[in-house]
Amino acid sequence: MSRASIRVALGARGYDVIVGTGLLGELTRLLADTCPAPRYAIIADTHVAGRYGTPLRDLLARTVPTILATFPSGEPSKTRETWAGLTDQLLAAGLGRDGAILALGGGVTGDLAGFVAATYHRGIALVQLPTSLLAMIDSSVGGKTGVDTPAGKNLVGAFHQPRAVFADVDTLATLPPNQLAAGLAEALKHAAIADAAYFDRLVATRESVLLRDRDALIATVTRSVEIKAAIVAEDEREQGRRAVLNFGHTVGHAVEAAASYTLLHGEAIAIGMRVEAALGVRLGLTDADDASRLTDALDRFGLPTGIPAALTTDRVVEAARQDKKSRAGTIRVSLMRRLGEPMHQNGEWSVPVAESALRAALEACR
Ligand code: NAD
Repeated sequence: MSRASIRVALGARGYDVIVGTGLLGELTRLLADTCPAPRYAIIADTHVAGRYGTPLRDLLARTVPTILATFPSGEPSKTRETWAGLTDQLLAAGLGRDGAILALGGGVTGDLAGFVAATYHRGIALVQLPTSLLAMIDSSVGGKTGVDTPAGKNLVGAFHQPRAVFADVDTLATLPPNQLAAGLAEALKHAAIADAAYFDRLVATRESVLLRDRDALIATVTRSVEIKAAIVAEDEREQGRRAVLNFGHTVGHAVEAAASYTLLHGEAIAIGMRVEAALGVRLGLTDADDASRLTDALDRFGLPTGIPAALTTDRVVEAARQDKKSRAGTIRVSLMRRLGEPMHQNGEWSVPVAESALRAALEACR
């Protein structure tokens, strides 16, 4: 296997996600086919800019004027202030409405550059070039863009679908091991809510993926993108079923924010999935054996599954209340019923939870 193509079927806003090797080297032609523009602006964090951004800019600039705009790497940069700094860089460079933004990097870059693209000149073309496993598997697909605020994660943003996504797995060769494992947390989430056979395969091929075998990486990214693309095509704006992708994310986002972004996003989601699976078991909504199998798999991938000692239950609950999935002040969670199947109840893909039940689950997962 060397290349896969998955369609995100959104009518006129539909696009292909290409997963494979050697894609960045062919980007001049790939962009000419999918997103022709008189000028490109690559947005990358400083880590990725040095490694992949500068060579890519030099390559593209042979045929189309291309600039590289950068920001400091890491979640603390995913702010309105960085958004303002990046838009200023593009305005100073004279990028017009017919220009296109290329989001080169992890999920922070994709969310931030996507939000710049959604708002710059009231919205310009965007291509996602994910370089972290998490961004390939999840964040580059589906059109959610945005920034964090002191009140919580992703609270300001927009839906803005890319014209194309090119996931070049060659870039994963330089991704630190903990970032690779963090990306696999979202793969396990996709498996947990949609495909039990994929869950078994992830567990069985763990070694090959962690050793960055290219075929194993392509197969994993492809299956995850297929799952996400199908859900997004059915419910682009999260009016219903797309909420299943939030499994682990109410508690995960709360832990991430309460820990001041010292955990990786995927690590926080691993903890969130374990706590929400335990919560589901307490509520009689999640199969207890499958909740244990999920926790076991997270452990085997080297992901954290316990609430860090420094985080009080009060702090996590307070952060969960701020989550944008809360309704009228009530915390909501999207749960797994059993491995491969999301919980769906009373026409809803998420359930309200009493604070006391959440507290008990958090305490049990220390
Ligand atoms: P990230 O973008 O911060 O990347 C992680 C680190 O890896 C960074 O330091 C980055 O510079 C580095 N990096 C990236 N690619 C590299 C490579 N090939 N080689 C070496 N280093 C590399 O974080 P992430 O984990 O990729 O993404 C997390 C973000 O994604 C969070 O903000 C989360 O909210 C967001 N997210 C969004 C969606 C969505 O649907 N929009 C879904 C899931 C997660």
